[in-house]
Amino acid sequence: MSKLVIVGTVAFDAIETPFGKTDKILGGAATFIGLAASQFKLDASIVSVVGGDFPQEYLNLLSNKNIDISGVEIVKDGKTFFWSGRYHNDMNSRDTLVTELNVLADFNPVVPKEYKDAEVVMLGNLHPMVQMGVLDQMSSKPKMVILDTMNFWMDNALEDLHKVIKRTDVITINDEEARQLTGEYSLVVAARKIHEMGPKYVVIKKGEHGALLFHDDNVFYAPALPLEEVFDPTGAGDTFAGGFAGFIARSGDMSFENMKNAVIYGSTLASFCVEKFGTERMLNLKGDEVRKRLQQFKNLTQFEIELT
Ligand code: AMP
Repeated sequence: MSKLVIVGTVAFDAIETPFGKTDKILGGAATFIGLAASQFKLDASIVSVVGGDFPQEYLNLLSNKNIDISGVEIVKDGKTFFWSGRYHNDMNSRDTLVTELNVLADFNPVVPKEYKDAEVVMLGNLHPMVQMGVLDQMSSKPKMVILDTMNFWMDNALEDLHKVIKRTDVITINDEEARQLTGEYSLVVAARKIHEMGPKYVVIKKGEHGALLFHDDNVFYAPALPLEEVFDPTGAGDTFAGGFAGFIARSGDMSFENMKNAVIYGSTLASFCVEKFGTERMLNLKGDEVRKRLQQFKNLTQFEIELT
C-alpha cells in the first residue's frame, strides 16, 4: 500500500462564525489533512505533538480512521497548540484571535521508522523548520513533497520558509498568501514567481471561488461546488490538501493530468468540511457521499460546445 507522511498541527480550535461559536474543539492542520486522506486506501501517518491536556478520545477518533498516530508525541506537562478565529459575514475572510504555540514551540518531529520511505510527504501548516526536520528524516527521496503554509509563517519565519519551499514539488497556498509571498497582485505572475522559488506545481486556493493549478505554461481551474450552506470554513484548505495528497499517494501518478483530478478530489472533500463546525462532517463522511458529489462536480464543469 502507498504511504503518506503528514506533518502539521493537532490542535484545539475555538471558532466564531455568523452562525455560532464553539468552545475548544478538535482542530489542527494535520487533523483535517489526515481525515481527508483517510478517504483513500493508504497508510497515512501523522507526525505532530500535543499536550497532556489533549483528550485521548480525540486521538482515538484519528486512529479509528486508520490513521497511524505513533508519530504524535504527547508532552504530559505541556499544553496543546491553540488557535482561535472569527469569520466575517462573507465567510471568506477571518481574523485570527489567538495563536498559542505551546508544545509546538519546542517540537522536534520524529517520523516513525516504517514511514521513512513514504512516497508522498505532506508538509502541513507548521513552522518551516519542523517541516524541514521531517524531510531530513526520510530515508529515500519522496516521489512528491507537498507543502502548505500560511501568512503567520511568512510574518515570523520567512527565511526558513524559503528554504523549505525550495525542496517542495507542489505548494498549496491561498490567493492572499501567494500575493504576500511574491508581492504580486496577479496570481499568474505570483505563480510564476513561486515556480522560480522551487515548486514545479503551484496550487492557489481561492476559497468559495475554487482553485488554480499551475505547471510551467499550463493552468487548470476547478471551481468550488456552489453550496447552500457554509457553516464553518475552518480546515477547508487543509482538507483540500489532504484530498490532493491522498489522491496522488494512492494513484502513484505524478503527471499534470492526474494532478487535475487530485485538485477535483481536494475540492470535493473541502466542500464537505465546511458544512459543519470543525471536524464533525469529515468524521462522519461516507465514501458513497463523496462519489455522489464527484458526479455533481463533473456535471457542473462539463459542457459540449461546437467550435465553428
Ligand atoms: P485552514 O482553515 O485550512 O487554514 O486551517 C485551519 C486550521 O489550521 C485550524 O484547525 C488551526 O488549528 C490550524 N492553524 C491555525 N493557525 C496555525 C498556525 N500558525 N500553524 C499551524 N496550524 C495553524
